Amino acid sequence: MTTVFNDPAEFAQDVVSGFVRLHPHLVESVYGGVVRSTETPEGKVAVVIGGGSGHYPAFAGWVGPGMADGAVVGNVFASPSTQQIYSVAKAADRGAGVFFSYGNYAGDVLNFDLAQERLRAEGIPAQTVAVTDDVTSADATERGRRRGTAGDLVVFKVAGAAAEAGYDLDGVTRVAARVNERTTSFAVAFGGCTLPGATEPLFEVPAGQMGVGMGVHGEPGISEQDVVSSRELAAMLVERLLAERPADAGPRVAALVNGLGGTKYEELFVLWNDVAPLLEDAGLELVAPEVGELITSLDMAGLSLTLTWLDEELEELWTAPTETPGFRRGSVVASRPRARRAAADAATSAVAEASPESRRAAATLLSAAQQVADALREHEDELGRLDAIAGDGDHGRGMTAGATAALAALRTAVGADAGIATALAAAGDAWADRAGGTSGALWGTGLRAAAGVLDDATAPDDATRVRAVRAALDHVLSFGKAQRGDKTLLDALVPFTESLEEAVTAGTTFDAAWAGAAKVATEEADATADLTPRIGRARPLAERSVGHPDPGAVSLALVVRTAAV
Ligand code: ADP
Ligand code: MG
Repeated sequence: MTTVFNDPAEFAQDVVSGFVRLHPHLVESVYGGVVRSTETPEGKVAVVIGGGSGHYPAFAGWVGPGMADGAVVGNVFASPSTQQIYSVAKAADRGAGVFFSYGNYAGDVLNFDLAQERLRAEGIPAQTVAVTDDVTSADATERGRRRGTAGDLVVFKVAGAAAEAGYDLDGVTRVAARVNERTTSFAVAFGGCTLPGATEPLFEVPAGQMGVGMGVHGEPGISEQDVVSSRELAAMLVERLLAERPADAGPRVAALVNGLGGTKYEELFVLWNDVAPLLEDAGLELVAPEVGELITSLDMAGLSLTLTWLDEELEELWTAPTETPGFRRGSVVASRPRARRAAADAATSAVAEASPESRRAAATLLSAAQQVADALREHEDELGRLDAIAGDGDHGRGMTAGATAALAALRTAVGADAGIATALAAAGDAWADRAGGTSGALWGTGLRAAAGVLDDATAPDDATRVRAVRAALDHVLSFGKAQRGDKTLLDALVPFTESLEEAVTAGTTFDAAWAGAAKVATEEADATADLTPRIGRARPLAERSVGHPDPGAVSLALVVRTAAV
């Protein structure tokens, strides 16, 4: 139970503020997260890690000499936005490029990839290795689809040490990819976790049972089984990870026992007492093992075991010194504090000239956005519960945060006499920046794509409005790489767009066509209950999702229905 907070919506920000207040000799705040406050030489590759909040010491706790240069901090369990990632990367860059690493979750991949593209477009080289260590989330043959869990620590540590040792960007990327390939983890949960301010946990593990195979976002386990003794649990974890020993592996391994937040160090030591002899009996030599809270899932009770098959180079990097708030090793020559940088805020752009018609269209959009934000707030808990069935429970919060931020941006734009194209683009950017998660990135950039079809000189006619919807759909298809039938918001958006296009082409008025299309979207969203997720956070728990509609499709139908009134 999370009991200490002020405003739940500000929880993640309050966490970072307290953290930076405690460790000013190592970290400082920038828009989107934290960077080192110590002097870092020019020409060093910047290692930027990140993800949602709720995982401390991951991710902000690992910024400092020997490890990361910056950490992006999203909302609780939600991917940070592209703008946040870009901002932290720019602040961390020392002229030798940026290396990104984070756990492989769809929302993080979308946002980090966009930020990476933006850096490259500015001539700043950037590379990425997403961590894929969780053996229960996909087969070994589909390594790229696995989630990132406690293996994050090993990958970030190795990449950070390589950058500190003077490797160039390709070199850091090479060792990070190699250590990721040689790292596997397996987790069990004894109890669910509760989002700050929520009244119920995201999921519950029945008494006497344990969930087997979780990510780190309060997703339920892949399966459940009876709780066993520490000795039996150790055997189960070790056996599963030894089964994936690479063909060329030597005897040297890094091993981690990670507590997920609600399991005591004492219990972790008991488990380690059973794990270590099993590894040694298998002929392995343990190199600088770690036991403790490394990457947590709020107050979830549970733990995981991670093994990394080291070679000489990886061992040197794994054992190299580092000093960060959350992870220390050896002794680092103290770095001098750097001169404080001026707080860099998100860029604000000047408003372009607009015609009265285009401004009136923006004002109409504003009143629709008000109703959409209200409707999403009303359904926030319901959407969260739907997302908690096979996902991480943040969908309601993400959609509300996105729509509220978009509304505020629209209000500012309309107040500054912006036209429809400028206003909608600002709304999309605000949505993408504040919503977090996969849906936040898709909604935000989808709205921006729609804005690209409009202009500030005219009020869009019916055909143009239809083309704007189509542009949003095309963008979501190409950016998210999902298809109709994968059980995503596309299962509502594709039929919505097609129905709207058909009706307008047949001469129906736009409002009537929209209302009809919204009805189609609602039916199709409900029908996703029969589908099995093939992409996104719900995929590893596909079976559980069957019988329940997709949260993203349900919220999309709600939005278009509300906007029709
Ligand atoms: P996250 O999955 O990162 O926690 P949300 O919970 O806010 O993000 O959104 C989940 C929804 O996003 C899903 O229900 C699905 O509709 C949608 N979604 C996920 N991946 C994709 C994708 N690749 N393309 C389109 N929609 C997607
Ligand atoms: Mg979610």
